[in-house]
Formats: sequence, structure tokens, C-alpha cells
Amino acid sequence: MTTLTIALAVALAASLALSAWLWRRLARATTAPAIEAPPPADPFSPLQHPLFQSAMAALDSGLIVVDLEHQIRLVNRRAEELLAPAVDTVGQGLIVLLRDHQADALVAETLRDGEAREMAMKPISSGRTLRVQCSPIAPNGQTIGALLLIRDITQLSMLERSRRDLVANVSHELRTPLASLKLLVETLQSEPPPEVARRMLGQMAQEVDAVTQLVDELHELSQIESGRVTLKLAPTPIRPVVERALERIKPQADRKQIAIAAEFHDAASCALIDGDRVGQVLLNLLHNAVKFSAPGGHVTVRTALVNHNGDAEHDDASAGGLWLQVSVIDTGIGIPAQELPRIFERFYKVDRARTRNAGGTGLGLAIAKHLVEGHGGRLWASSVEGQGSTFSFTLPAA
Ligand code: ADP
Repeated sequence: MTTLTIALAVALAASLALSAWLWRRLARATTAPAIEAPPPADPFSPLQHPLFQSAMAALDSGLIVVDLEHQIRLVNRRAEELLAPAVDTVGQGLIVLLRDHQADALVAETLRDGEAREMAMKPISSGRTLRVQCSPIAPNGQTIGALLLIRDITQLSMLERSRRDLVANVSHELRTPLASLKLLVETLQSEPPPEVARRMLGQMAQEVDAVTQLVDELHELSQIESGRVTLKLAPTPIRPVVERALERIKPQADRKQIAIAAEFHDAASCALIDGDRVGQVLLNLLHNAVKFSAPGGHVTVRTALVNHNGDAEHDDASAGGLWLQVSVIDTGIGIPAQELPRIFERFYKVDRARTRNAGGTGLGLAIAKHLVEGHGGRLWASSVEGQGSTFSFTLPAA
């Protein structure tokens, strides 16, 4: 129970008690015998006070007051925003507003035993996750209604889910190399012939590299996501950045007999970038292009000057300025169309069986996307399965 709910419940209870007391004083003072007895006071009438109404309207949590019959006596603006009722709900049953039988049952229990309760609900109409806190209203110790406080916890529950997914993914990714390490150590303990032992030590080194890469990339991603990586932006010629990345990937490409090349639309073009970080993005894309291509394939890096930020349909070309578009084009295995939107998610790998031997953490594209977006650009992919893929990103031209 939050302090806010308690404060609201106390304020409400106090004003209801005050109104009941005033009403009794007034009834006692009126002694004229001919006057008819007044109708019983409505204990909820103080809710109509303009001061109370404007305080409720200013609250950034949803607030609903119901009586013992579950009839709505007050709904503030935020509650209407969160629950988006189709009709005016004051005077209606609570279920018309909540459209959730569990929440309605929760209120019934609070009205019955006077105990505060809370639950989370997901109205289908809005797709949000809401936390509902229900407290009794009992001005003279006797419950006369309930107060519901409603908060939007969508963001919070999404964060919670992504944290759970992260832990599940990391443990899944660690399990494979650790299991093979354990097996290799056990075999080594049985003192195999020296050449077998040597081969096993080589395999162990590979597994240790895989774990190290995972930990390094996770650390990198968390640094970027928490905003601890600052880009050192400066007008930088793109050609040396591309050439450096190609040089670094060359040994790997040569080993697989994959030809690599660059095509510059204009050898002198510059972009406002952090050269090292853009080099890292390029290396990552080149690494994938080589990894997912068969021997004899081709990988090309191409640059072009465009007047939209990679989204010709939605960008206003006249307002967008100039962008340098860099594409990494391969003739590899390609990516099925239905998988394309997901490959930038953390840990996502297309068809694990198909790419099992390729290694990798599934974090590279997530990191690359963050880095490109940090420059104000966009990173996207297009592909034809079996024919190849093109990964393109934009950078602000300088
Ligand atoms: P990984 O470490 O697995 O390469 P990435 O985030 O870099 O992680 O890539 C995610 C997945 O996207 C890869 O596992 C692969 O399935 C797919 N992918 C990325 N680049 C390519 C490419 N050039 N060709 C085919 N598939 C690719």
C-alpha cells in the first residue's frame, strides 16, 4: 500500500465523517415540528466539492470511488484515460469501467472484509498493464465504499520481462561452452595420448574464447544501453574507416576464399562520426557477411550519398539534409523474410540449427544498431534467402 493511497483514503474518510457530523448538527438544530424529516444524507456528497474535484483531476494516478453496490461515485480524468470507457461511467456499475471480473471480485472482497488489496490487470482494449490498489472507505469504522487507485505499470513490466529474458538467454548461451569445457577437462583427466590432449586443449581455447566474447559483448551492450558510451563525433572521411575494416576482415575472408571489395561513390566524402565506433559497426557486418557466405562468395562495401535517412517513404527529403549510406552486400545464405524484423533483437539468431556451427552470440547486430542510432542514423537489412543479404546504415554527411 503506498503512502499516496493511505493519504487519499484518510482524506476521503475525514471529509466523509465531517459531512456526516455536520448533517447531524444541522438536523439537531432544526426544531420546528412542522418540517418534514430530511432525506438521509448521501455520505459521498463531499466528493462533489470543487476543491476535491480539482485535486482529483490533477492526480497522475487513476482514482475511482465506488459504493457498497459497486456503483461508481467518482472517476478522475486519469482513470478514464487508462481505462478508456466508451460511455460516461459515473452512476454505472464498476464492471462497465473495468471490464474485468477479477478486479470486480477484488473490490467485492474489500467491501466485505474491509481489507486493502491489489492486483495487476491488462485491459485488452489498451494493451497496457495496470496496477489496481483497492482500499476500504470507512469514515466511522464501518465500510461504506471502496477507493481504487490505478497506475500504469506497462513500462515497468516490460523492463521486468526483458530482464528475465536476458538472464534466461545468458544462462542458455553459457551452458553450451561450459558443458563442452567440462567434458574436455574430464577427458584430459583420464590422460589421453599427447596428440589427443593437444587437440582438446585447442578446443578448450575455442570454448574459452566463446565465453569471453559473450561476456565482452554483454558488457559493451550494457555500457551503450545505459548511455555510458560517449561518441567522439568529428567530420571524418569514410574511405579510411572502410578500408581499415576490410583489412581486418581480410584474413578471415581469405581463409574462406571469399572476395572482398569496396565501391566509393566519392572517395573524399566525410561524415560526422566517431570513426572507431563506425569501424566497429562495419567490422561486425563484414564478420557476419563472411561468416554466412559459402566459399567462392563475394562481399562488397558500397557508399552512396542520399537525401533521406534510410526511410524514403517517411522522411521529408527537403528537411532531412544529406546522409551517407553505407551498405555491406553479401552473396551468402540470406535471411528468411519473416525473420528479418527480429535479427536486431538481443540474442536473436536465425534458425539455430542452420547457423549452429557459425558461432556468435546474437548480440552483434543489437550493438551495431545502438551505435548507428547514436549517430542519428538507421540500420536495416534486406535479403533474399539463398541469394544473399544487404545490411545498410546511414550517417549524417559532413
Ligand atoms: P551473431 O553473433 O549470431 O552473428 P548477430 O546479432 O550479429 O549475432 O546476428 C544475428 C543473426 O542474424 C545471426 O545469428 C544470423 O542468423 C543472422 N545474420 C546476421 N547477418 C547475416 C548475414 N549477413 N547473412 C545471413 N544471416 C545473417
